[in-house]
Amino acid sequence: MRIIDLTPRTTNGTTGRYQTTPGQLIGIAVHHTVSPQPSFNSDATEINHALMIDVYHASLGYGGIGYHALAFPSGAAYLTGVWGGARAHVASRNHQLLGIAAVGDYTAGPPSPALIHALQQLINAANTHAGQPLPIAGHRAWALPQFPTACPGAQHAGWLPLLQSDADMDEPRIRQIFAEEHARAHHQPSAAPVHTVGREGERGLWGIWEHRGKPQPWERWLPTTLLLNGWPTPPVLHIGQQIAVAA
Ligand SMILES: [Zn+2]
Repeated sequence: MRIIDLTPRTTNGTTGRYQTTPGQLIGIAVHHTVSPQPSFNSDATEINHALMIDVYHASLGYGGIGYHALAFPSGAAYLTGVWGGARAHVASRNHQLLGIAAVGDYTAGPPSPALIHALQQLINAANTHAGQPLPIAGHRAWALPQFPTACPGAQHAGWLPLLQSDADMDEPRIRQIFAEEHARAHHQPSAAPVHTVGREGERGLWGIWEHRGKPQPWERWLPTTLLLNGWPTPPVLHIGQQIAVAA
């Protein structure tokens, strides 16, 4: 896969804020941009987005886009600053860390497999520059205690390890891993009680809740029960149906 070189177009893209040597590097920090997710439907919209981040970070005094590289949901990868120049992505540690960002907000869920694949390609390129496989961790793991951050999102434990692989994972393999993880998550034996629906189910989940002695406030019980069963909205129940219920 091709990494598109944007360094001639970003602030300090070809130089960095200052020069670093491969020997100084101790790792790669993975970020998410938390930028609102417009629909990127072309290289042009992706490049515009990258340059917008550059202008924004420059306005904050970062000396240009804070990240060395960006990975987009489409699977496209962009180099936004040469690996041999420091950027601004982990406070007080920019002389020793390369910064790669997943474009989008992954606070609540993982990036697309295509984006993960793009991250891997960028990590391979970073490792080639470093002359060794660098340790990879989320921003939050590299951050000094006085600069805490949630970046790259609460779900990172589920997808960051995919990046630590031996670089021979192609996109279909990543998709397969995602599918397996998804299946595992759904087959995890749930601690939630199972309720066999009887006549009380004619009044829907409200009837079940009353029948079970109102174990907790309805406002809490209902959303938890919906979540446990993967229902977006309360379903029509039938007698004999087995459902998971909030305890
Ligand atoms: Zn970050």
